[in-house]
Amino acid sequence: MRTKFPLAAALLITSALACSPSRADDPKEKDSDQETKLRSDMEDQIGADADFKRAGPFLVAGHLGADAMEGHAAMLERCRKALHAQFFTKEPDFLYAVYLFPNHDAYDAFCLKFTGDHASSKYGFYLPSRHALVMNIGTGGGTLVHEMTHALMEVDFPKVPTWFNEGLASLFEQSTTAGGKIKGLVNWRLPTLQSALKDGSFLEWKKLVEFNGPGFYGDGSGLRYATARYLCMWLQEKGKLEAFYVKIRDGVDKDAKGWEALSSVLDGKTEEAEKEWREWAKGLKWE
Ligand SMILES: [Zn+2]
Repeated sequence: MRTKFPLAAALLITSALACSPSRADDPKEKDSDQETKLRSDMEDQIGADADFKRAGPFLVAGHLGADAMEGHAAMLERCRKALHAQFFTKEPDFLYAVYLFPNHDAYDAFCLKFTGDHASSKYGFYLPSRHALVMNIGTGGGTLVHEMTHALMEVDFPKVPTWFNEGLASLFEQSTTAGGKIKGLVNWRLPTLQSALKDGSFLEWKKLVEFNGPGFYGDGSGLRYATARYLCMWLQEKGKLEAFYVKIRDGVDKDAKGWEALSSVLDGKTEEAEKEWREWAKGLKWE
């Protein structure tokens, strides 16, 4: 048996070599290669003198000073972990470029160079085709959390209906993280909803879920955002938002609008629930 051992060992080594991943297949090497390449691309865009910080799949760049960059990266990481703990299962296998600017002029000048056009939003945006988030962080961190929610959800739930994509992202643009969880709070979108509830021009849930695609945006979108956001917030307050996420994601092929998923987490009582939601929304306060 002794004489056979070296042969067996040699076979093992050979087979181990044959199966060993090439450098490009090693996740750590792949990540490091991706970061090196992305950083070089980002330096071309924003300048090699920018500060760079890595936070999960996000490579953050800006001329904001090391402390501010550290703070934004830590916030991204906190929110990312919470979003994955509560909602998202799939992780991206690529990195996102995050460009942060301290004011409108610097942000808009970058947009012009980066996209060939002026900024379409004064706060920031996510460009899926380039896996890039571009922010005027001088307006606050809310839009960064909104856009990172879109970016991460795109990987976990590519067929997400537009109303829910915007509802969930909007929910977290004003949020706190504690105990590893993210929680949306009341924000500036509330008055739009409350005035529509008051004058009867509100959007019924059945109508809201019809907005799947570009029709969500444009004229009147303020009320659509507000309705979707506060529906998500109400589900959060009821402790049903995580369950709803799983149902709408896993059932999307048969339930593209998510109505069946909503009905299911509300035990089929959507009418009663909607009445309760309207009263709840009327009573919310935003200072
Ligand atoms: Zn959005």
